[in-house]
Amino acid sequence: MSSLAARCPRPHQLALPFDAPLWDHVGLETALIREYGRPLRLTLTENRSVLLSFRKQGGVVYLRLHRMFLHAPSAVVRAVARGLRRTNRNADGEVRRFMNENLHRVRREPQRMPQIETRGAAYDLQSIFDRLNVRFFESKMKVPLTWGRGSGRARRGGLTFGSYDPVLRLIRIHPVLDSAIVPLMFLESVVYHEMLHHHLGGVPDRAGRTVYHSRQFREQEARYPHHQQALAWEKENLPQLLRASQKLDRERRRR
Ligand SMILES: [Zn+2]
Repeated sequence: MSSLAARCPRPHQLALPFDAPLWDHVGLETALIREYGRPLRLTLTENRSVLLSFRKQGGVVYLRLHRMFLHAPSAVVRAVARGLRRTNRNADGEVRRFMNENLHRVRREPQRMPQIETRGAAYDLQSIFDRLNVRFFESKMKVPLTWGRGSGRARRGGLTFGSYDPVLRLIRIHPVLDSAIVPLMFLESVVYHEMLHHHLGGVPDRAGRTVYHSRQFREQEARYPHHQQALAWEKENLPQLLRASQKLDRERRRR
């Protein structure tokens, strides 16, 4: 709704990592079935050598795709479905190109949980989390959070203040917010935003793509009493925060 969008002039400032997947398992399987038009079962793999394979059995296609395909745009998904109709097992050019461009997603090792650091110089994230948990989630939420290393690239005109990693199930908060110049209500609004990502997950849109900042998300986000104030503070102080984060970057590189 436009009124909801208007309340959050820069929704991507408090966003998931740039690289959030376009699909979840069910959404991708549904899209493939729609394109292929016949029964299909999708298995997602971390297999490093075979990124795409399938077999047909009893009128059902059993398709195995590397998890990188959660990032595949619709055109690539269509090309995968097209490939299933062929007798020739070679992936189509478009699919091959996508795989080559996404090889960085093929991990050598599973992602490891980083060391958790909640105590900062100005703020203790754990106590902020605990208060929000009592207030909004009946103290039921269990998810670790940590000060990040601040290595997230500053994006055009913005900073990723917080992120939620659905694979590690971990909330990271940018260390630039661990400062006395940052009001508690702003830090709380960032932590609360990421807690909502953990709480709500993604919802598929009509095309089956995963939407993270859904209408429900925006409504729940606005329940935080200082939501408007936090947005206004961000707008006013973004240049200062950007400079502070660049300074952190330089210090880190020096060390
Ligand atoms: Zn977000």
